[in-house]
Amino acid sequence: MSEYVDPYPGRKGKERISETCGKCHGTGVYDASSNASFHTKTVGFVTTGCFDCMGTGEHSFLVSSARAKARRHAREALERQTRIEAAREREEQFRAKYGELVDRAKAVLDGLSDGDPFHRKLSWNLDAIGGDPVEFDAAAWETELREILVAFDEREAAKRPAPSGRLEIVGTIRSAKYVDSDFGSTLKMLVEGEGWKVWGSVPKSIADSEYYAFYSADGNDPADDGIGVWTGALIGREIKFTATVKPSDTDTSFGFFTRPTKAEISEKVEESR
Ligand SMILES: [Zn+2]
Repeated sequence: MSEYVDPYPGRKGKERISETCGKCHGTGVYDASSNASFHTKTVGFVTTGCFDCMGTGEHSFLVSSARAKARRHAREALERQTRIEAAREREEQFRAKYGELVDRAKAVLDGLSDGDPFHRKLSWNLDAIGGDPVEFDAAAWETELREILVAFDEREAAKRPAPSGRLEIVGTIRSAKYVDSDFGSTLKMLVEGEGWKVWGSVPKSIADSEYYAFYSADGNDPADDGIGVWTGALIGREIKFTATVKPSDTDTSFGFFTRPTKAEISEKVEESR
């Protein structure tokens, strides 16, 4: 209700109204835990008095203050309604202008795994739409989203089928981490070639020699480091090895390799730690 209606039509402002308390239905007793005790006119001294009417069982007020309250409520309701309508209008205008762009971004996002960097970028960008409308800079937001989608399209266009079968692989190590399974912890790596990536275990000879090299260096101490800290030294390095690669069912540019042998790794990159 956003229109003011006189709650006591025909009555004078100075008139006093007495109404039965709605909280306790006039008993002065409220059926809930309370530390207040009152003397009530209905049941005498009680320990759970109604807070709403302070145990009197009724509310007494001036017609003029009831009218002021009704006016305030009407004004608040109108303001609320105006805010809702303004928000709806903003949303419709936004939808008309950017609907297609947002739909495309959502469709791309749907097809991405959580670990994909574009997943994070698109989620952040789309989340910004629902933020504070005063802070929201639509032009900057649009520019950013278009840039993300262009970069995504470029990456997709650059994808090539991952190698498959038993063969020599040459690529760059993009990530390395320990993965736990029922058989213990295994150091895995993501190797990127031109337009493809393969995932599998770091060849044992490389893991051993690189671990040794890392902790032989000054300042590096396995006792101070968490597990896997040394693997940062592998990132960005070229690796060559022979393995059996099986392409992913969902993404032909991605493959899983097993039985890596004859591995060679390039010299350590400087600022890798
Ligand atoms: Zn009451």
